[in-house]
Amino acid sequence: MVDSRETLISRTRAAIRDVPDFPQPGIIFKDITPVLADSALFRDLIDHFTETHSSARIDVVVGIESRGFIFGAPLAIELGAAFVPFRKPGKLPYQKVRIDYALEYGIDSLEAHRDAIAAGQRVLIVDDVLATGGTAAAALRLVQQMGGNVVGVCFLVELSFLNGRQKLDEVDVQSLLIL
Ligand code: AMP
Repeated sequence: MVDSRETLISRTRAAIRDVPDFPQPGIIFKDITPVLADSALFRDLIDHFTETHSSARIDVVVGIESRGFIFGAPLAIELGAAFVPFRKPGKLPYQKVRIDYALEYGIDSLEAHRDAIAAGQRVLIVDDVLATGGTAAAALRLVQQMGGNVVGVCFLVELSFLNGRQKLDEVDVQSLLIL
């Protein structure tokens, strides 16, 4: 690590842009695209997540569509794990398993290829923002239905006032920036 955790948190906090009333009135959207535009910060974040999870013997990193892909894919490479996308309905071409869930702003579903996770594999779930926790909890249940063993859930940002962590209390939840 080039940076302390506190410095990394400050840099991340400074980079994230609040966009009020997106995608609907009352939501303050945490726009992480400025984080991605800062290659040094992006690299340091991936290094940080890698360090955090390197001893957990992760077999599979699940990225939640779509921003979970951005952080999950490089993390999977660094951890020497498979990357598995959990996608919005209708995007995956092969035989699928599916779960429905409530979002902070609506209802949605996640799908995975049915052979993407083998029984007993150790799985880390990754997304950018933990809000109400509905999405991550659904991903967790879908991994479990597939026979996987969720050993952690990892976020860049946690909106703690929405208590999403409560929906994930059976697993290790790691968020870098807790707001
Ligand atoms: P939730 O299921 O409520 O925890 O919502 C998490 C999912 O919705 C994640 O995939 C986030 O990317 C997205 N999301 C929810 N609320 C926000 C927000 N305020 N800013 C950015 N993304 C959000």
